[in-house]
Amino acid sequence: MLGPVILAASRSDKMRKLVSAAPVTRPVVNRFIPGETVDQVVPIVEETVGKGLELTLDVVGEDITTPEQAAHARDAYLELIERLKDLGHGTKAEMSVKLSMFGQSLDGGHELALANVRPVVEAAAAIGTTVTLDAEDHTTLDSMFAIHEELRKDFPQTGCVIQAYLFRTEADARRLAANGSRVRIVKGAYKEPAEVAYQDKSEIDKAYVRILKILMEGEGYPMIGSHDPRLIAIGQELARRAGRKLDEYEFQMLYGIRSEEHLRLAAEGHRMRVYTAYGTDWYGYFMRRLAEKPANLLFFVRSMITK
Ligand code: FAD
Repeated sequence: MLGPVILAASRSDKMRKLVSAAPVTRPVVNRFIPGETVDQVVPIVEETVGKGLELTLDVVGEDITTPEQAAHARDAYLELIERLKDLGHGTKAEMSVKLSMFGQSLDGGHELALANVRPVVEAAAAIGTTVTLDAEDHTTLDSMFAIHEELRKDFPQTGCVIQAYLFRTEADARRLAANGSRVRIVKGAYKEPAEVAYQDKSEIDKAYVRILKILMEGEGYPMIGSHDPRLIAIGQELARRAGRKLDEYEFQMLYGIRSEEHLRLAAEGHRMRVYTAYGTDWYGYFMRRLAEKPANLLFFVRSMITK
């Protein structure tokens, strides 16, 4: 019940100001977003790699309103890549980007987002790592997939994300599996209408399994983005049936969620990548994490009351 309300609030400017200004917010946010600057995230990268895990780093931000902000987002990623170059972890520290942060929703946004993301993908390739395009709300996806295809002409390792809750995704998965893409499959984190998306949790889970099967049987590299123990077990079984070796797919989870499971999968020999977000514009990302598990919201509210 609470999930959709929180997701609606994630798009409200009033709520953004209220939540961001609350003095008790930061310690709660820290659980999911461990820093605001590159300097703060570098030790997290080192610690994560030291534990035998890998990362995909997200400089948080979305729904920007000016081309200058989009250029600023591009520069924030370029600054991150400069630092990753010194660390030398290659694909163990890759990046995830949201095209809305690169200007996708502005006038001429498709071209602007492509122009801003290309130098990031180029710089990542130059230090031996990769970029994955996150999936945002359904209205943005045709543009995201077109940009993904364009980038893959020069950088075939560029990944993208598909969302099991959308009716369109099985067809997207078939296309991406046939052309050998790196694809992260997730359940989906946005508030989507019944015309385009399953609303029922068990329907979403069933769709996830159908889509994961398509990816595992295809030519690409599946990235299983989920904390759901059933889907993780099914993922392992589907990989086994498809004859995939341990380095021919990977698991991905979010920083701060089921951390002991990250270590368990890595200890079993799986490639386990932790999606690690950092930056100052954390509101939208944080609210989606609250929406996924309303108990997080109770924890947040309680910490506000007891301060
Ligand atoms: P759920 O059924 O939601 O969760 C299973 C269990 O995991 C829960 O019972 C709980 O124990 C734990 N859990 C899950 N979420 C939380 C939480 N927030 N706090 C505490 N515990 C939790 N969505 C997009 O729409 N686009 C993207 O590009 C995208 N990228 C992602 C990248 C990664 C690596 C991951 C893991 C998720 C991403 N998501 C993205 C979010 C995704 O769509 C889901 O909203 C999220 O993963 C929750 O679904 P679940 O599969 O973990 O299953």
